[in-house]
Amino acid sequence: MNGHFAAVGGSNGSPKQYDHGIQVIDEDKQFNTKLNEYLTETHVAEAGFNYHLISVFGSQSTGKSTLLNHLFGTEFSVMSESERRQTTKGIWMSKNKKEGAMADNILVMDVEGTDGRERGEDQDFERKSALFALATSEVLIVNIWEHQVGLYQGANMGLLKTVFEVNLQLFLKDKASQTRSLLFFVIRDHIGVTPLSNLRNTLVQDLTKIWASISKPPGLENSRIDDYFDFAFSALPHKILQPDKFVSEVDVLGKRFTTGHRSTKDQEFVGGVFLPEYHRRIPADGLSVYAEGVWDQIVNNKDLDLPTQQELLAQFRCDEISREVLVGFGLVIAPLEEKQAEATRMGKTSVVLSDLGATGAGAREKCLKAFETQASRYHKGVYTVKRTELETKIDARLKALYQAQLSAAHKAGVAAFSDAVTNAVKAGQKAGGSYEFAEIVDKQKRKTLEIFKKEARSLSIQGVGWSNFKPQYHLFERELDEVSARLRKEEMRRLAIRVERWVKSRLGDAVGLEFNKLGSGRGGSGVPEDAPLGKPPSEKDLWDRIWEVFGVIVKEAEGRFTERAKSFDANEEEVEVGLWRLRRKSWVALRERIDEEVMESNILMKLRENFEDKFRYDEEGVPRIWRPTDDIEGLYTKARESTLTLIPLLSRFRLAETYAPPDLPGFLGAQPAGAEPEDEEDLVPIGGVDEEEGKSLEEEMTVISESKRQDLVVRFKKMADGVYVEAKRSAIGGITQ
Ligand code: GDP
Ligand code: MG
Repeated sequence: MNGHFAAVGGSNGSPKQYDHGIQVIDEDKQFNTKLNEYLTETHVAEAGFNYHLISVFGSQSTGKSTLLNHLFGTEFSVMSESERRQTTKGIWMSKNKKEGAMADNILVMDVEGTDGRERGEDQDFERKSALFALATSEVLIVNIWEHQVGLYQGANMGLLKTVFEVNLQLFLKDKASQTRSLLFFVIRDHIGVTPLSNLRNTLVQDLTKIWASISKPPGLENSRIDDYFDFAFSALPHKILQPDKFVSEVDVLGKRFTTGHRSTKDQEFVGGVFLPEYHRRIPADGLSVYAEGVWDQIVNNKDLDLPTQQELLAQFRCDEISREVLVGFGLVIAPLEEKQAEATRMGKTSVVLSDLGATGAGAREKCLKAFETQASRYHKGVYTVKRTELETKIDARLKALYQAQLSAAHKAGVAAFSDAVTNAVKAGQKAGGSYEFAEIVDKQKRKTLEIFKKEARSLSIQGVGWSNFKPQYHLFERELDEVSARLRKEEMRRLAIRVERWVKSRLGDAVGLEFNKLGSGRGGSGVPEDAPLGKPPSEKDLWDRIWEVFGVIVKEAEGRFTERAKSFDANEEEVEVGLWRLRRKSWVALRERIDEEVMESNILMKLRENFEDKFRYDEEGVPRIWRPTDDIEGLYTKARESTLTLIPLLSRFRLAETYAPPDLPGFLGAQPAGAEPEDEEDLVPIGGVDEEEGKSLEEEMTVISESKRQDLVVRFKKMADGVYVEAKRSAIGGITQ
């Protein structure tokens, strides 16, 4: 704003610097920007509205500075008796130094006197200083010699005329918040012949005349002097002639500078001169900025618009206070923000800060409260806007902090949940496999949700919409459900593997048993004694029995799987997919088992056993002792042909009755709608079922390929021939023996 100006009375901030107060406006009309420093040093700045501002007016060398120094213990320069030249230059301010019965924080402004003698015809400064004093002061002391009273044309009256005129001008724009001022006439060198009441009447008459004479702006033509001013009067004896009396009367006068009010009954003053209605309502910490703004307007001959000045002041101060309180907020919040940023840098995504909710809400509350305490003294509209601005700033930072916190809590929670469930399952498996998966999931979910809820609740701030984190809670819950589903799927897989293993083991036994029956030409053990000879049921309906036992085993496995899966809350769809996979895997297992049985060495041995059983044993099961007369060749041919019929039978999985493959596609069922690509990943393609495989059901049911079959026939025949030759030899040998 205006230029800098060093305060008189010392430099470098020495304590003596402000002994004489501070020169607010210098003789070059420059405003002293150190005013706030002075107000801070004298502890007025922290007083809010609890301060008072007084200005003194009067002709030059009428003892104004002397009076103020006596009244308030100030040290304004006083003209020395010998030099007699102007001492007070510009406008000075000093805080009341007297202690005792006076109001708190009285600031006194000693205004350079005017009488045209020492400043030439500089009416300009007179007018400007009057305007400045009126805009800021509650009480204007008018210092006047007794012998000047009634001299209507005197210099004092000229000054008063100026005061009245600028006052009207001042409040033209400020009718709404029109403030009154007290004109406190102090009559000096009162001899005592004329009583104060008479002097007072004379002065009131003169004031009325002056008021009538001033030109009033449109709209205020009919305004009265007491619409704007209250009056008070006091007389003091001659300081030099009656020094003791002067001092004691000044003491009496000093007691009037306390707070007061108007009696509700008769509107008379009660108490001291400082009525609340005189106060300009500028908070002390904004006084310097306000005064500077006002002076800036005055000195540049702009229309002084106090409401605008007050709004500007409010904006300036609210911003300043906002910055200050944000510093305090930042001291608490910045380290937390740093910790989060650090965690992100380190790649750790789940750093949950402890007590963040309490810390954040505390810092927020403290910051807003501090702002409110200081800033609410300023223009209400501006304050409200600035408060919202501040809140927005604070909340933006808190919100970012809180959201990061919840996202960290989210990630940490999901990981903890997944780990806890996995570990509990592992522990259950170790302890013998008797654990309830659904119970584990339920318990861990509740536990994890509770932790998250507690964190979200701790971050919630009463009455602050954005701090309701219910959506985040639901999001978290949804993710836990997703993780549960994944873990359940894994559990289903583990279950499926267990059941498949069981199926394999059962199939191993059952299929082995059926194939072993081939070794006996009569169907082996387990075949009824009265079974028709040469047509053992064990051969023709081998596949029927395998298909049947397969069905029984798979059915039982399905039952086991379903029961267990239901126990951990798997849904219908998941169970259906699991069963479909189980059936397919069981079929593949069966095929593998069969392949094992028909491996060349195995099947050749089975055929040999079958053939020998038919060839070397008679119908009663008694081993034959060959004699040369026996029809060895006939028996050999019959047994060989009978066993050879097994090869085509074994080559294809066919049911005896229909002479067709079993309804494998029907048995496996269509792929359930709920199956996902990963469910198919590890499945072996099955001919006639998985069309894209390009393999027919016929091919799927081919147990021994055509070429292998021919090979098998050749080898079997060779083997049978060997047995025949041996039989022949033994028959001949039997004779020779
Ligand atoms: P200011 O210019 O109005 O501030 O006047 P000062 O306080 O500097 O005083 C000017 C002169 O008047 C000084 O020489 C004082 O000694 C003298 N003076 C101060 N008080 C009184 C008083 O009550 N009566 C008289 N007659 N002279 C006074
Ligand atoms: Mg003076």
